[in-house]
Amino acid sequence: MGSQEVSSTVDWQGKHVTVAGLGVSGIPAARALHERGALVTVVNDGDDERARAQAAELEALGITVRLGDGATLPPSTELVVTAPGWQPDKPLFLAAAEAGVPVWGDVELAWRLRGDNGRKAAPWLAVTGTNGKTTTVRMLASILEAAGLRTAAVGNIGVSLLDAVLGETEYDVLAVELSSYQLHWAPSLRAHSAAVLNLAPDHLDWHGSMAAYAADKGRVYEGNTVACVYNAADPATEDLVREADVEEGCRAIGFTLGAPGPSQLGVVDGILVDRAFVANRQKQAQELAEVTDVNPPAPHNIANALAAAALARAFGVEPAAVRDGLRAFRPDAHRIEHVADIDEVRYVDDSKATNTHATEASLAAYDSIVWIAGGLAKGATFDELVTGAAKRLRGVVLIGADRALIREALTRHAPEVPVVDLDRTDTGAMSEAVARAAELARPGDTVLLAPACASMDMFTNYNKRGEAFADAVRARADESA
Ligand code: ADP
Repeated sequence: MGSQEVSSTVDWQGKHVTVAGLGVSGIPAARALHERGALVTVVNDGDDERARAQAAELEALGITVRLGDGATLPPSTELVVTAPGWQPDKPLFLAAAEAGVPVWGDVELAWRLRGDNGRKAAPWLAVTGTNGKTTTVRMLASILEAAGLRTAAVGNIGVSLLDAVLGETEYDVLAVELSSYQLHWAPSLRAHSAAVLNLAPDHLDWHGSMAAYAADKGRVYEGNTVACVYNAADPATEDLVREADVEEGCRAIGFTLGAPGPSQLGVVDGILVDRAFVANRQKQAQELAEVTDVNPPAPHNIANALAAAALARAFGVEPAAVRDGLRAFRPDAHRIEHVADIDEVRYVDDSKATNTHATEASLAAYDSIVWIAGGLAKGATFDELVTGAAKRLRGVVLIGADRALIREALTRHAPEVPVVDLDRTDTGAMSEAVARAAELARPGDTVLLAPACASMDMFTNYNKRGEAFADAVRARADESA
């Protein structure tokens, strides 16, 4: 199976395929390959009740499942299809490399199987980056819809790419969110156009180094045909475009929060403008939308909107559809979500800000903030974050296991800012955090939950953390009404 071959030219009949990981991507992959005549063996590390039930369903179809051993490569394997999260240095992959067996991730499989059900293979507009992927992909899908195109937001966003390419619905174009893990395992993916939104250290334990992480993100540009969209404020993203091997005629398109140069999209006097996909880009710019059409109009979100607009314009979408799509877009929960105003204080839930890069963007969006932060730091340091925001902090309420790390950074760089250190992790902790934040806030301030940390020390996930915050805020709003 050469790297350029598409599925329609692969004879799956009798091929020995090992699927690594029973799970959201493994099960549909195993089924799809089995249906095409492959001899599928699923290997899985876990051997719990849930895995056994899933295994029984697959075995009933005639698929072999090996539980409790995801490390050993079955001897006859000709191809491995892996769940994206599996760490690349696992013995299974080392054995595959030694045996010259290719490894595909869920995205690679979807890419190879597209069009295999007799339907038109829709082109992909791909988005990756450390932060802002989901928001940008949803904005993009909203714009494409406004243009009357049949589309869906798929990929790392929680909607399986395999389902999208093999399902009943026919699409004109797909808005695809890709994680660095998925890109790592997608060697032959060739998007119509792609964007890398930003690049900050994340998941380095998985990739091994910042260089390896960046290289995996950069794969999204490989073979692009129309546009490689980069962030002009983040030179690392432009470097990745330079290093990519693209199709003849594919253009590098920048986005900037300032006035755009030729071949860029940017902002002029509160208007999002396009100086890339216009007839005379040396002299002209096309108005796309107003900053106030972006919901919410925080700077990093305007950057997301520009990236989405660039991809849509690369696909030939008219300016009016960019505006209509942005107006129709509603952000997902817990992403700078406005919860309530109480006593002239605004309460905002950005529980999804689980790393310092996201929190930095969030803090930059407000002038005077009571910041609720803390949780699991995942090895992060907070000096830069605190230094950048110090002037705008009215006060800070710290929660969670690693709060001392943030407190120390505050002591070093913002000693005058009042800090409340909450030493409790029970279910009432968030209510108290909100109550203490309310005490610190003055009219006109924003109480912002943007933890810069993972949530699992106190909550099941960031959704639950955001809900706890919103519940506490609404309870206060009801009391004061
Ligand atoms: P992802 O899918 O990459 O995790 P989301 O769109 O879900 O991104 O946003 C995650 C968090 O990242 C948001 O809550 C916000 O705090 C922050 N964020 C969103 N867009 C950007 C951006 N362009 N730059 C920096 N941070 C961002």
